[in-house]
Amino acid sequence: MPRHNTSVCGNCLNDYVVEQVKRAIKDQAMFQRGDRILVAVSGGKDSLSLWDILTRLGYDTAGLHIQQGIGDYSEESYRKTIAFSESRGAELIVHSLKEEEGAGVLELAELTDRSPCSACGVMKRYNFNKIARERGFDVLATGHNLDDEASRLLGNVLRWQEDYLAKQSPSLPATHDQLVKKVKPLYRLAEREITAYAVVNKIDYVIEECPMSVGSKMLVNKEVLNRLEADAPGTKQAFYFGFLERQRPADLSREDDKLQSCTRCGQPTSAAICSYCRILEKVKTAP
Ligand code: AMP
Ligand code: ZN
Repeated sequence: MPRHNTSVCGNCLNDYVVEQVKRAIKDQAMFQRGDRILVAVSGGKDSLSLWDILTRLGYDTAGLHIQQGIGDYSEESYRKTIAFSESRGAELIVHSLKEEEGAGVLELAELTDRSPCSACGVMKRYNFNKIARERGFDVLATGHNLDDEASRLLGNVLRWQEDYLAKQSPSLPATHDQLVKKVKPLYRLAEREITAYAVVNKIDYVIEECPMSVGSKMLVNKEVLNRLEADAPGTKQAFYFGFLERQRPADLSREDDKLQSCTRCGQPTSAAICSYCRILEKVKTAP
């Protein structure tokens, strides 16, 4: 672990990873014992490791997997997620876009002239929130790690997206009674530390990246940060943690005022009809 100027064995790695997650949960007041946590699991190393760690710590969790319908990649993701949940006897909720929304991510993108990543993002955010609320979960947890958050920060800074900067947080409270709290308990851990955790603990995850993410800004930013990190270990952490210390958080109490209920589905949105319903409209009217 160059950024800590140390090497560790498997046991010490496990202790370190679990300690960092405990600290994240405490420092950011993410959730408490007894809270019901819905873990969004893609089948990748981050979200499966997160589910593993939270279970190990004795939290009350269930997994939620969205089947995106992106060919072999989605099939493989689904298989790995199911295998993990069965091996742990853990509850898994599966939501298939093809079955529930009537089309997978690629068809949705085509019908709406959106990029696949944009259509996928809308579908995931909407269903994460709706399913968590409907099923009575207190909080939704995702597997975003330090690399994800640092590269998102870099993207937001490069374009000075102040709105996004104010809201970029490892713990976002529910700002509306129809919204669930969202947390990222892996934000203190680097991608390679989580990969090592998954390998040491024999977690069988999907190795390939989503084929739609090839060439995305997020991956370019990650590469840039990896080069900086290789040159000066600790750069990513200094960048992101330094931001969290200096951040002037958005006045989230006023966020509520900006939201209204979607006239179609009733979910909170900043427009009259939410993005999800606008996408579904296209599916319904497609030839
Ligand atoms: P990504 O945007 O693909 O880097 O994913 C970030 C986080 O979103 C993952 O760590 C998961 O927690 C969640 N996630 C991504 N894809 C899915 C999916 N198909 N089903 C459930 N959760 C997902
Ligand atoms: Zn709607």
